[in-house]
Amino acid sequence: MDKKRVYYFGNKQADGNGKMKNLLGGKGAGLAEMNLVGIPVPPGFTITTDVCTEYYTMGKDKVVELIKKDVVEGIHRIENVMNTKFGSDENPCLVSVRSGARVSMPGMMDTVLNLGLNDVAVLGLVKKTGNERFAWDSYRRFIQMYADVVLGMKPDNKDDIHPFEEIIDEIKKEKNIDEDINLSVDDLKELVVRFKKVVKDKLNKEFPQDPWDQLWGAVMAVFDSWNNERAVYYRRMNKIPDEWGTAVSVMAMVFGNMGDTSGTGVAFTRNAATGENVFNGEYLINAQGEDVVAGIRTPQQITKAGSIEWAKLHNISEEERQKKYPSLEEYMPEVYKDLFDVQEKLENHFRDMQDLEFTIQEGKLWLLQTRTGKRTGAAMVKIAMDILDEGKIDEKEALMRIEPNKLDELLHPVFDKEAIKSAQTLVKGLPASPGAATGQVVFFADEAVEWAQQGKSVILVRIETSPEDLAGMDSAKGILTARGGMTSHAAVVARGMGKCCITGAGGMNINYKTRQIEVDGKTIKEGDWISINGSTGEVYEGKIKTINPELSGYFGRIMELSDKFAKLDVRTNADTPKDAQVARDFGAKGIGLCRTEHMFFDDERIIAVREMILSDDEAGRRAALDKLLPMQRGDFEGIFEAMHDLPVTVRLLDPPLHEFLPHEDENQKEMADEMGISLEKVKEKVEALSELNPMLGHRGCRLGNTYPEITEMQTRAIIEAALNLKKKGINAKPEIMVPLTGTKEEMKLQEKIVRDTAQKVFEEYGDTIDYLVGTMIEIPRAALTADEIAKHAEFFSFGTNDLTQMTFGYSRDDAGKFLPVYLDKGILKNDPFEVLDQTGVGQLVEMGTRKGRQTKPNLKVGICGEHGGEPSSIEFCHKVGMNYVSCSPFRVPIARVSAAIANIKYAQETVNV
Ligand code: ADP
Ligand code: MG
Ligand code: MG
Repeated sequence: MDKKRVYYFGNKQADGNGKMKNLLGGKGAGLAEMNLVGIPVPPGFTITTDVCTEYYTMGKDKVVELIKKDVVEGIHRIENVMNTKFGSDENPCLVSVRSGARVSMPGMMDTVLNLGLNDVAVLGLVKKTGNERFAWDSYRRFIQMYADVVLGMKPDNKDDIHPFEEIIDEIKKEKNIDEDINLSVDDLKELVVRFKKVVKDKLNKEFPQDPWDQLWGAVMAVFDSWNNERAVYYRRMNKIPDEWGTAVSVMAMVFGNMGDTSGTGVAFTRNAATGENVFNGEYLINAQGEDVVAGIRTPQQITKAGSIEWAKLHNISEEERQKKYPSLEEYMPEVYKDLFDVQEKLENHFRDMQDLEFTIQEGKLWLLQTRTGKRTGAAMVKIAMDILDEGKIDEKEALMRIEPNKLDELLHPVFDKEAIKSAQTLVKGLPASPGAATGQVVFFADEAVEWAQQGKSVILVRIETSPEDLAGMDSAKGILTARGGMTSHAAVVARGMGKCCITGAGGMNINYKTRQIEVDGKTIKEGDWISINGSTGEVYEGKIKTINPELSGYFGRIMELSDKFAKLDVRTNADTPKDAQVARDFGAKGIGLCRTEHMFFDDERIIAVREMILSDDEAGRRAALDKLLPMQRGDFEGIFEAMHDLPVTVRLLDPPLHEFLPHEDENQKEMADEMGISLEKVKEKVEALSELNPMLGHRGCRLGNTYPEITEMQTRAIIEAALNLKKKGINAKPEIMVPLTGTKEEMKLQEKIVRDTAQKVFEEYGDTIDYLVGTMIEIPRAALTADEIAKHAEFFSFGTNDLTQMTFGYSRDDAGKFLPVYLDKGILKNDPFEVLDQTGVGQLVEMGTRKGRQTKPNLKVGICGEHGGEPSSIEFCHKVGMNYVSCSPFRVPIARVSAAIANIKYAQETVNV
């Protein structure tokens, strides 16, 4: 049998179900599942994501051939259930054609509503509903949407208005009307005429009248929208594979724009910004789907409590609220009750916060979508823990609900309480996505990107945002819109990004042409500084100081749970006592990488360092190193003390010597004076020491092997520091790490120097401490010969930055020239310096670990590259059987959760050789 490409749903039955997201897309799977649990959903069918892939490989004609029979059948089923007919002048069948990928990509792809309307069907719709206004309004909306999405009619310039909007404005002006809602039936008919004319003028062909042509055009347009600019950008941003494709769901239209007993809305089973367990959402009377999200009209609250709160925020009196903005709970109590029951049922069924779309047609409730609701990092943590406490999921499931990278948001700054007191409030909007941001006002998305690239902090200010603004929103520190509610595009996308956002700040008058905001008699220009608080909805003039947040109780509980399930320890990369302290506060179990070269660059020390490098002989070098010794020892004491009795891996000097050389005349002169030699001599030395390819030159253990006295001095500083602390009752655990080992001989020599020096210091002090000697594995040859190297090492730490650099042969400092192109063209799926390349570099990591443990079964293995804080790479480290990962202090919480998730996912596969 041929594989199934089209899945029907309707009348509480469905071919598919909620688990089939990969094939039916999130939307299609949700629609199927809602049918199966008995929730009212208009009938329809879903064309699978596989067909989208087939479309991209075989082209349109082949694909139409493959699915034609099933699609025709699907439409007939809709016609039967709804008792309608495609194109009929009595009771026309109208459908929506909707996109939907495996994971929700809100607003990124296209959807067409009211499909099936034409010059004849519109009369049928009038006949059937007796509502001329509604019929003609639907038709003009359809032409608008179809022309935009399928026929590609967009405005030419970013500050131009859409050609159709222009026509609407024209008519409004002619008729002296201020709101769309006041357009008469004749006006709407006139709109249709002018719309069709614009299409004909622009595209040189008539607007398609055959519903089947319309349908196929829309289906292909939805497939095409998988590759539109914003969808591609969104996938990059969220690491969604290009080959997944989108499904297409075609379903009977229900109408929220049939008058005052109809409406449409969006609801969340819990609060997506804070995680609070309160049902909430927004709706509009007499409106169709897109209207709520697009922020064109001010939506009303679904619950009474929500509505009262909203009115307070907007300084609207209770009387006015009841009259002009009643909640759904008050306006349609019956429908509200149905909706409340549905949301409860759905949340219990999916055991997670749901984001719903619904439409009310003449008093009857229909559900159009349910999906796992996007939420802020704070809400993510709270909801997972609350649902755990409600006994609906277990601890493992709660942890699996955490997207580690999103925890980052909880660590973001908030406004300083003192600074905020003296700040001037400009205007208030809705607290759409929490957090604090300060930046310069920018009005256009592409400019936000440019400014951010120049290193500026920007706040993107728009009347409303649309999916085209995605990249700009991503570049901005915060987003502020004049229109739209808590479920507007800006709000939903910002929460998904974890970006601070205020919507519906109606007090602002934004002028894109003059690039100014008028607010309360004040003028804010492009480039002016403002500050926004997404947790309260307040917009302030000027810059405001921010401080680090306090971590909430829920966060702490997630961390505790993580430690319960994780197998990998998490350490940190820290070079200073301050960083070490931050990491400890975040739960680091030690330092996995303490770089010592930073200690060399310090102003007063660099002179001694240069003196050492420029010396002609060992005696000169030793003299210079003697000056450095007490400074290094002091540094180590500070770090060991901050980490108390936790292990600290100290890497011996790594960078090429030439990085320390004085290149400016002035600095060379200073060195000549200091060392009592001629400027000429200094210049000669600098010349002689410069390298063509320093990253592959005189660096790492090559330094310690050519100038053993460097390793001696550093070892002495480390051991003496530990012994000094021992006297104070602090049990330091240094792990001395040799960088850039490539052969066993290199390591053997370094190990000997370290051990001999340590022994000497022990004798001098008449006391000892425990320490380890190990190496970084960051040269491919080291991974290949790890069994030999392990003879001289007590631990390995994979330096995956250099290992990636050398395995790919990409210089990390120069990769910026070609990596973006490689990512664009799909030559690489990810930046290998960000996400560990498991297929290539990963083999070396796996082999190095395995071979090392062949020699020493208890060999301690960790990773200290940038990858140590990246969730998918951490998962890999877990699978390889490492003991720990090490990452920057602010990523420690992320790594702890990732480690737990890895162990929950791959508990059985762990190889502990
Ligand atoms: P997105 O994925 O961008 O949210 P959707 O496919 O959900 O796009 O559709 C956009 C809007 O149109 C939503 O508000 C949705 O509820 C509405 N809509 C979609 N299909 C129908 C339908 N059959 N009847 C009424 N409204 C619909
Ligand atoms: Mg939707
Ligand atoms: Mg390195």
